[in-house]
Amino acid sequence: MGSTTILRGFKVSVAVLDAFLTANGLDESRGTPPFYHEHPDKDPISALLYKKIVSNAAGAAAAAGGSTTSSIDKNKFRVMMPSREGLPSFVAYVTYAWFTVYAHRELRMDEDLPAEIPAGFEELRKEILSFADPSRGIPETEKIGEEEGHMGLFVVYTHDIRGDYWPPWVYERNTGPFICDQCDAVFTGTISWNVRQDHRIEVHGVKESRDPFPEG
Ligand SMILES: [Zn+2]
Repeated sequence: MGSTTILRGFKVSVAVLDAFLTANGLDESRGTPPFYHEHPDKDPISALLYKKIVSNAAGAAAAAGGSTTSSIDKNKFRVMMPSREGLPSFVAYVTYAWFTVYAHRELRMDEDLPAEIPAGFEELRKEILSFADPSRGIPETEKIGEEEGHMGLFVVYTHDIRGDYWPPWVYERNTGPFICDQCDAVFTGTISWNVRQDHRIEVHGVKESRDPFPEG
């Protein structure tokens, strides 16, 4: 089980990202992706990015004579790293828009991947990239040259439990009880989702397959 994420943001070497993390009191990633399910509140990297964005945006708003930062969505900012079979990555991505695909999904670019860069993000990018400066002492062989800080639209696959993503409908089918949407029948038990579907199809003539497979 793994997950594919489509994201907007920038690319950075793990060495530079790790220098930024340790300078802010966090552990190095060493190229191991954060756990997917810990974002946004339990993952310390996500929390740090959000804190920086809020602070940057507040500074910019104050400089412009305003004060609002309440619309900042903490869900947008996270680190994604490619991984296959548990191998560590040399490259990380810092996002400002992303979504993860379970099996299939329509790409709704304007809704899911807006190109507009949120307030505070460019300052965050510059701060992280400052650790790529030769004065910081990271060997050039651990950096990614002109790609360092490159902004773009990327696809990242994250292996196994680090990237494990389950859309809400997967969980919902494993819980219950389920109620028929046509009558008062209630279904409980381990296969209650399928029993409910059979009931809806046989009793009410609903035109659905027994196991519809939603997008997500
Ligand atoms: Zn019914």
